[in-house]
Amino acid sequence: MPDLVQKITAPNGVTYEQPLGLFINNKWTPSSNGQKISSINPTTESEIVSVYAATEADVDSAVRAARSAFENESWSGMDGTSRGQLMVKLADIVERNQKVLATIEALDNGKPYSKALGDIEEVFSVLRYYAGWADKHYGQTINASPAKFTYTVREPIGVCGQIIPWNYPIGMASWKLGPALACGNTIVMKASEHTPLSILYFANLVAEAGFPPGVLNIINGHGSEAGAALAQHPEVDKVAFTGSTATGKEIMKLASRTLKSITLETGGKSPLVIFDDASLENAVKAAHFGVMGNMGQICTATSRVFVHEKIYDSFMNAFVEYAAKVSVIGDPFDENTSQGAQVSKQQFDKILAYVHAAKNEGATIVSGGTVAENRPNNKGYFIAPTVVGDVKPNMRVYREEIFGPFGVFVKFSDEDEVIKMANDTDYGLAAAICTRDNSRIHRIVPKLKVGVVSVNATNNSDFRVPFGGVKQSGIGRELGQAGLDAYSNIKSVLMNIT
Ligand code: NAD
Repeated sequence: MPDLVQKITAPNGVTYEQPLGLFINNKWTPSSNGQKISSINPTTESEIVSVYAATEADVDSAVRAARSAFENESWSGMDGTSRGQLMVKLADIVERNQKVLATIEALDNGKPYSKALGDIEEVFSVLRYYAGWADKHYGQTINASPAKFTYTVREPIGVCGQIIPWNYPIGMASWKLGPALACGNTIVMKASEHTPLSILYFANLVAEAGFPPGVLNIINGHGSEAGAALAQHPEVDKVAFTGSTATGKEIMKLASRTLKSITLETGGKSPLVIFDDASLENAVKAAHFGVMGNMGQICTATSRVFVHEKIYDSFMNAFVEYAAKVSVIGDPFDENTSQGAQVSKQQFDKILAYVHAAKNEGATIVSGGTVAENRPNNKGYFIAPTVVGDVKPNMRVYREEIFGPFGVFVKFSDEDEVIKMANDTDYGLAAAICTRDNSRIHRIVPKLKVGVVSVNATNNSDFRVPFGGVKQSGIGRELGQAGLDAYSNIKSVLMNIT
């Protein structure tokens, strides 16, 4: 019998059974050729477990399971209210398992356990929010002509391939599962090879909630193999993806073969603009959360910080002092830890390479820029909070998404100039402004070429509010009512009544 489960005891004493297989038709199975992915704990650099990695043939089995579930009366015949009730049941089970799921995220991703608890709260909140929509996503009647009774209905798209990243593994899963299930779709979800574990535990909760087999299939696998097979499978009707812009473009190409519906949430290099009338204390906090939150691994991270010249020096001093105080690096299960490890060796090396690039291009490393000094047991992919000044728009660290605790700081003198600088990027996910001047806020917001603006804050997102980017940061919206549009088709009916 292949090994499909392994008992794990985490440093916080939580013991649980880690599934290792592919979850297809509510059953666990190994990959067809036995291949596996090793899941590394970024805090200790050692293997937690290895899990089965789907082949193209496994992806095909999962898609077929989703297709037959989509056509099966037990799901397609279920009314919205019953679907919503199932989702609420799943949310309740997730809430009961909050500690185990947060433990897995801390082990596998490296984020502090205290923050991972918040991620799981987001998961059950998103499921409950979309459960409420399951019987409230209506069409319209349209008075087009007295000779016709004309109306629209909302229908599920069909089989959805969902490809998720590693920065908020199960959180990003919920953003995609919630609206897809509420609209009555079936799903094949592929997790990131860097964080394959929490979603497998979640799969057992799906079965416990009573979802019919095949409605939600969960697999791990390599992007170039399992991800690509999912993105181009002819029986997949829609692909939703969160990750890098380069992969997003590749997925768009693959999905175009059968003209699939797509939603892409890709990279960013978001600006934070701090005007001289802002509360310095609040601006420092906002800037810190903007670029150091979740170890800088947030797609809306405000990693380019523009500070008005009048307050540049006082802001930089206050920021470095604040970062030194609140960025407590350590074991994710230590309750004082606020900054854990980066997700992988690959990301860790990439961030340190950007430090070299910044130095070579003439920027100043104001603080950090090294492996963190106080790593637990002198191991793990920990990076000291990095502050880089004297940055110019032609530098790589100004233009490229780094995805680490790495902020670049730029001085500005004039509102029009800073708007141009803020927009001077291929990305357009988010922007943030700190100012006390309301008329300035209303003047600037329309000029920012982004999908999400935070005012006197950073990384603001709320599951009731649409989220997504413009330019090379994505296509379509997740969350809020708009999230339902991404998972339903409109059918128009024109009935001749004369
Ligand atoms: P990635 O884009 O390579 O991977 C994200 C997901 O896509 C994973 O599940 C991966 O397996 C899958 N994938 C990869 N290649 C694929 C392909 N050809 N076809 C289909 N699926 C494929 O991201 P990554 O390697 O995990 O991280 C690289 C960069 O992506 C990071 O440095 C960061 O800049 C960015 N990133 C952004 C976000 C975000 O929320 N916007 C999240 C994670 C990573």
